[in-house]
Amino acid sequence: MLGLMQDRALLISTIIEHAARHHGDAEVVSRTVEGPIHRYTYAEAGRRAKRVANMLGALGVGFGDRAATLAWNGYRHFELYYGISGIGAVMHTINPRLFPDQIAWIANHAEDKALFFDLTFLPLVEGIAARLPACRSFVLMTDRAHMPAASTIPGLLCYEDLLAAAAEEFAWPAFDENTASSLCYTSGTTGNPKGALYSHRSTMLHAYASALPDSLNCSARDVILPVVPMFHVNSWGLAYACPMVGAKLVLPGPHLDGRSVYELFEAERVTMSAGVPTVWQGLLAHMKQGGLRFSTLKSTVIGGSACPPAMIRTFQDEYGVKVLHAWGMTEMSPLGTVCNLKSKHLDQSAEEQFRVETTQGRAVFGVDMKIVGADGTDLPWDGKTFGDLYVRGPWVVRGYFKGEGGDPLVDGWFPTGDVATISADGYMQITDRSKDVIKSGGEWISSIDLENIAVAHPAVMQAAVIGVAHPKWDERPLLIVVRKPGAELTREELLRFFEGKIAKWWMPDDVAFVEAIPLGATGKMLKTRLREQFRDHRLPTA
Ligand code: ADP
Repeated sequence: MLGLMQDRALLISTIIEHAARHHGDAEVVSRTVEGPIHRYTYAEAGRRAKRVANMLGALGVGFGDRAATLAWNGYRHFELYYGISGIGAVMHTINPRLFPDQIAWIANHAEDKALFFDLTFLPLVEGIAARLPACRSFVLMTDRAHMPAASTIPGLLCYEDLLAAAAEEFAWPAFDENTASSLCYTSGTTGNPKGALYSHRSTMLHAYASALPDSLNCSARDVILPVVPMFHVNSWGLAYACPMVGAKLVLPGPHLDGRSVYELFEAERVTMSAGVPTVWQGLLAHMKQGGLRFSTLKSTVIGGSACPPAMIRTFQDEYGVKVLHAWGMTEMSPLGTVCNLKSKHLDQSAEEQFRVETTQGRAVFGVDMKIVGADGTDLPWDGKTFGDLYVRGPWVVRGYFKGEGGDPLVDGWFPTGDVATISADGYMQITDRSKDVIKSGGEWISSIDLENIAVAHPAVMQAAVIGVAHPKWDERPLLIVVRKPGAELTREELLRFFEGKIAKWWMPDDVAFVEAIPLGATGKMLKTRLREQFRDHRLPTA
């Protein structure tokens, strides 16, 4: 027997319609590439998204076509999210920090029919436009006054001109909720990038789940500033969750340094933010230097790579900001787990609570997870045994765009490539990415654990631990460190800091001090690069 409830498809256009209708006066504030702060409301965004829909029709972008963006977090990008997906076309956000050759490869693989880009990326697009045969329209996301006098891109279009020429009346079409809505390529540290192709249904379910109190806890009383880019897994879904709940949205544009972000936090009375640890390092350094305080910030989501416990402590103890340690990946839209205490933890000591808070947290409802051993058998949830982390759920990929890489699933589960433990209460902790794990004498050493200890040292700004070849033990840990500006620290002092905190055989064999650690396109430490750089490093014990 079937239920008797209405069969209304879960479509992304309903989010912007709802926000415009029910939160019409809630603001979207953007720091623009052109300079000034721009403000409008969800009502205005809803109207402009309809103009986008009409503009796409005029450009010949239709149902199922891919339309790409190279853009920072800003209001035009936001409207494109809704206009493009709303007509049943596919919003393809490209990470502009990739190399031009990779960008061209991705745009060609996706067969993007139109490319919308911020002024910042004009030189980049001029360099690759001739290599994008499928792309018929190049649209600069600016107004007439900021259009270049000349460009090597033939027929370069002006976004505001196109929007002005497009009608504001548009009825969002209804279609199957399983229709593709947006496309995001994994960074492809090994091999070519692969496209995760989200659907309206997966995006909507993910938005509901991520707004829940024990997820990212988003509401109409919040002012949310995603530092995480809209080209990095849809700013972790916040581009959908914020208008869904009616939160005021603050978009930081191209300026993601500590000072610019702090200024926006204060000026716009931001209550919640989200970003990778490297972004927060910059912000915290700026705060410390200037003796600054947050007047409204209550919580921040930290994920994308492990948030060092020292950073959680600084946010919570020194600034009273709750850290929501979250884990996920492009293939998971991206949310998998978020760390929040259960009521039973509230009676425990601060130390015990903190121990829980350093994990990546519990699975958000909708995500099912398990850890398995090398032979594929399930491993116990005891908080100690670690194994390969597998997931499944309605916003987890079942394959990549155009079948790239074959069938990724194992008995219906997606292998994440992460190694983790899960406690009896379901708190998951990432030990490593499987390719970063250090294999010493047949045992595994967690690079994340060692990095977390190193960054707790007051003279350490950043730390990465990689495995270096060792004649007897296969691999041994090498600690690579960036000191804080002006700080003095020797190899011996730093190694002494590890004593008593880890098993003896986990002790890094050597320390290398560097000026900077290379970061990838999503702001994570590039360990592949470090491994190349230190391939011939001779350990003192070797
Ligand atoms: P890529 O790094 O290829 O761009 P993603 O951005 O999707 O891909 O990153 C997903 C990976 O990032 C996860 O598989 C995991 O290794 C790592 N990651 C994400 N969040 C966390 C976290 N909170 N702690 C540790 N690792 C994390």
